[in-house]
Amino acid sequence: MPPTAGARPRALVIGAGITGALVAWRLQRAGWQVTILEAAYVGAGSSSRTAAGIRQQFSTPETVVGMRFSVDFYRRFCEEVGGTDVPIVQNGYLFLHADEEAWQGARARVAMQRHFGLAEVEDLDVSALVQRFSWVDRHAVLGGTFCPSDGFLHPETVYNEAIAAARRLGATLHVASPVTRTEHVGDRIVALHTPQGRFEADLVVDCTNAFDAALQGQLGFTPLPIAPLKRYLWFVQRDGSVFSGELGTRAFASMPLVIAPSGAYCRPENAESLLCGWAHEARPEPGFGYDDQDRVEPEFFHKTGTDTVGYQTWATLAEVIPGIGEFAGITATTCGYYATTPDHNPFLDRDPAIQNLIRAVGFSGHGAMFGPFSALVVEALAREGRPDHLAVLDRDIPLTAFRIGRAFGHESMVI
Ligand SMILES: Cc1cc2nc3c(=O)[nH]c(=O)nc-3n(C[C@H](O)[C@H](O)[C@H](O)COP(=O)(O)OP(=O)(O)OC[C@H]3O[C@@H](n4cnc5c(N)ncnc54)[C@H](O)[C@@H]3O)c2cc1C
Repeated sequence: MPPTAGARPRALVIGAGITGALVAWRLQRAGWQVTILEAAYVGAGSSSRTAAGIRQQFSTPETVVGMRFSVDFYRRFCEEVGGTDVPIVQNGYLFLHADEEAWQGARARVAMQRHFGLAEVEDLDVSALVQRFSWVDRHAVLGGTFCPSDGFLHPETVYNEAIAAARRLGATLHVASPVTRTEHVGDRIVALHTPQGRFEADLVVDCTNAFDAALQGQLGFTPLPIAPLKRYLWFVQRDGSVFSGELGTRAFASMPLVIAPSGAYCRPENAESLLCGWAHEARPEPGFGYDDQDRVEPEFFHKTGTDTVGYQTWATLAEVIPGIGEFAGITATTCGYYATTPDHNPFLDRDPAIQNLIRAVGFSGHGAMFGPFSALVVEALAREGRPDHLAVLDRDIPLTAFRIGRAFGHESMVI
């Protein structure tokens, strides 16, 4: 339902992470009367446990364009949303490749990404690569793709400032307000219930991401294939000769987010600490609770021993960046949940069974970067029903890749 003159239609946003905060801000600005219902507190989910990388180097055109929008938005965040801290650090993303087939695939992706407007992405053969990034071991890789406008985010700035901006525009926030029940008339939700009270709705937006796996059954939403998977981060203390002195300090501070051929990744967290991560086999935990988010299993905890996954992650990264092998040690292990879908694309769509419910969930480890684009799509869905296409920057992109009920083919897998 598009907002009309007179009384504002009421939108209820469930969840106050990056997605809910940006959706609330955008809908309130577009003329809706937004109420945010958050079960715990702002940033209580994955948004405060994230590596917060943001890249436009994707394998599908709509995501390349969508993430170009997100990067542009985050760069203009203070003008658009407010606050004084720009939440994006544009150190770039560097994908390293050691296998010929993977390297050729990466080069083909660069051509596609350029075609879809990512002019600044480059494929660097090994000589060009080590000339640019002298800390990469030239014998360990064939080449790399680098996009200087990629980087990483300060997630707390995003959700805190977006919530504050939404409230300045007139939105209402209720924390400690878990949605426990829906009230329907026909195929529409007319109200949501929380222990704090009943909230009437013209539109509901589900922004609960990994929590949705449990919530969808409880609230009668259409079941979506979302697997909450535990993911870890480790923080390694900077030390050693390669990144020492003034030059080394500068090289460390400007280091891009690097993805090693093994899939492990790292980036500077601050002047003294390297954030590292690596996906591992994990069983889905659809019934996880808030405390489980920070539960570190012994085989992932750096204090359990040097044969744990954090040390393996550090070691595989040191195979391509030998200088970090000299670092002093792991000082912290943190974790949270990915909300993984079969093709690693989120669901940004209307619920097929509930006419006034929009689902913006299943971000599969990309929800921080998707935030601005997700909010843009939600605004279009709220305004237009279920558009097939959306004008994003200089392109008109299909929204079918984000639809509920799409086929999950090998070719649609997002990498
Ligand atoms: C280790 C790790 C690394 C990651 N790295 C990256 C990365 O590099 N780049 C990237 O883009 N993404 C990354 N992600 C993923 C990213 O963090 C998430 O996709 C993103 O934060 C999701 O934001 P969200 O607002 O959709 O969900 P969340 O931040 O999880 O927020 C959902 C909110 O819903 C609330 N909620 C739940 N149930 C209810 C209810 N019944 N009623 C009301 N409220 C409810 C929760 O309390 C929570 O605040 C990573 C995640 C992890 C764990």
